[in-house]
Amino acid sequence: MTEVPTVDFPTLWFVPSWLEAHGVEELSSPALWRLVSQLRCDGERLPAMFTGWALGGEVYRCGDYGCVCGWEYEYEPGEPMAAW
Ligand SMILES: [Zn+2]
Repeated sequence: MTEVPTVDFPTLWFVPSWLEAHGVEELSSPALWRLVSQLRCDGERLPAMFTGWALGGEVYRCGDYGCVCGWEYEYEPGEPMAAW
């Protein structure tokens, strides 16, 4: 078993959710950790797809980006938001 550290930084949780909604099998803990580490959002490191901080209730809709799957993701207050 690989020890997986706690995710104690803001990151784009939206991305692993999006991947799972689009047919990617559920990520293993180490894979998920690597992914959210790459997507880390803080003062120094903002991923290219970062678009701002949610006030809460903002919704990402796949349809806005040309995808027809109908998937939506509602952001929690303070969560970093992303454009795909
Ligand atoms: Zn989609």
